[in-house]
Amino acid sequence: MVIIEVLRCKRCGAPLETTPEDIIVVCPYCGYPNSYDKIFTEKNVFFVESLPKKEILRLFWERVRRDKDYLGLRGKIEVVKVEGFYVPMWFGKVRGHGYVRFVAYEKEGNEKKRVIRYRQFEESNIVCVPARRSVYDVTVEALAKKLERRIHITFEEMENTLRHVMDLRPIAELTPDRWEDLELDFLNTDFGKEQARAALLDRASDRAKRTHVPKDTEVKSFGFDGEVEDIALVFYPLWKVYYDIEGGTYFVAYDGHKGREALALEPVRVWRKVAYALTALLGVSMAALFSALYGNAEYWDFVFQAERGAIIVLLVPGILAYTGFELARGYGRKMARDVRVEK
Ligand SMILES: [Zn+2]
Repeated sequence: MVIIEVLRCKRCGAPLETTPEDIIVVCPYCGYPNSYDKIFTEKNVFFVESLPKKEILRLFWERVRRDKDYLGLRGKIEVVKVEGFYVPMWFGKVRGHGYVRFVAYEKEGNEKKRVIRYRQFEESNIVCVPARRSVYDVTVEALAKKLERRIHITFEEMENTLRHVMDLRPIAELTPDRWEDLELDFLNTDFGKEQARAALLDRASDRAKRTHVPKDTEVKSFGFDGEVEDIALVFYPLWKVYYDIEGGTYFVAYDGHKGREALALEPVRVWRKVAYALTALLGVSMAALFSALYGNAEYWDFVFQAERGAIIVLLVPGILAYTGFELARGYGRKMARDVRVEK
């Protein structure tokens, strides 16, 4: 015999559509967050107040007015859809420690010696991961990274630190009355607490790698270990404004709490392409011109006569040549793109 379990909302009794992976299912009728992981009872599920839809639209049109990229296109822009979601995010306070072994070069007399350096570190950070495993969304990922960058531990309790940067409300405050006025849909969570712990540790490890591993050097080994000391699930508002320009659809995603842009996907204008091409060309000529100097005998005469300024005279063409090279490379790549992603 097959037993079919029909899940019903614990507050209003309405039938709920769930998948076996769902951990929190917000009732579409009354807004009650039904929890299947006993998370809710621990009082660490929150939501954050969102700006209203019309404010998001105002921000969008203000951007259109200000951004040079929309020059000559303003009349052709048509907003096709505005979506607001509460996306579940796991926040965790991670205390971690680790080490990095890398190659460094030390001066010994006139010789450079290759040495292996070992460095240990210890730190606490608050990291954030989207609590939806089944649906990857680049916008949600971008939002998580932005939130993470904004949060620095200011209080012992993670909740207080979070409160410092966002207006955290216990999810129990979402009464049926308030629920009815809410413009945003809740997205379900399929990422349990234990999985979240593992993901938060991973994230903390990535972050430690970014801060403690020196750039442009050979890394021999890196290790990180830590524990998640505190954890909270926050439903965070995210808005997406989709718009059409000349047959293409683009969007701007907003942090619904602060009204800041989380991610924008926008068309690359022809003039921008031309500007990229010119910059790349300038880069190529700079690289060619200034690296050619080093092969020029008169230049070397000039260096020797410069005496005290010789180092500067020597270095400047190198720096300019390098800048030129980087310009050519970066702008050459940009030119090849049709869509611009702004983070
Ligand atoms: Zn309900």
